[in-house]
Amino acid sequence: MKLIGFEEGLFPELDNYNAGFNKGSRRLKVTIDTLAAKTHYIENYPELLFNTLDLLPNIRNHRCSHGENEHAGRDYDMSHIFSPIKIVGDVIDTVHLFEHVALEIQCQVAEMQECSGLTCNYWEPETRYDVFIEYEEAPIAEFSCLTSLKLINSQINTPEEPFNIRDVLMLATTIARQGVEDAGSLSSHLGWSNGKLNRIIAELQELKFPFSAHLPAA
Ligand SMILES: [Zn+2]
Repeated sequence: MKLIGFEEGLFPELDNYNAGFNKGSRRLKVTIDTLAAKTHYIENYPELLFNTLDLLPNIRNHRCSHGENEHAGRDYDMSHIFSPIKIVGDVIDTVHLFEHVALEIQCQVAEMQECSGLTCNYWEPETRYDVFIEYEEAPIAEFSCLTSLKLINSQINTPEEPFNIRDVLMLATTIARQGVEDAGSLSSHLGWSNGKLNRIIAELQELKFPFSAHLPAA
């Protein structure tokens, strides 16, 4: 999947499609193209969902009003995974999972109690999607989307691209929630070597994490 662009706005028309949106909240429109063949996404989805729930178990607590709850009649049975994320059995399931991952990352990093999203498919081109993410701080929302995209791609692209979401989230939440950006404090707080800290800082930079002061250098 490839990011086409971000657009910040109110998009009040979305209130009709997801009652979970807070009235008057700001939403980030994320336009995404799927690049691989349709079968690639459909065949990889069960394992992608399973692994994603393992990495971000709180997604099991999300509410979801998209698609259907019924798993019957699909080519695969996923009822044993116990996921609240509804599926339609098509490419949009992968994009919809991107939405839930982005919301989860944003809630963790920005300590938002609640935020909603929506995933929409274009008629033309049918490989294009708009995902809407409710946000308070646009830079954190964009970071969350870039991180979600990297996580999904790291699992479905071949060859797989290793991506340590746990370390990235640990550093991002420590900086965002506790305001610590001093390298020495970060190393000792996280119990990381300078080398590891520098490596994850570089990952955060690549994902456009909004460092507030000077970049910490270990
Ligand atoms: Zn959903």
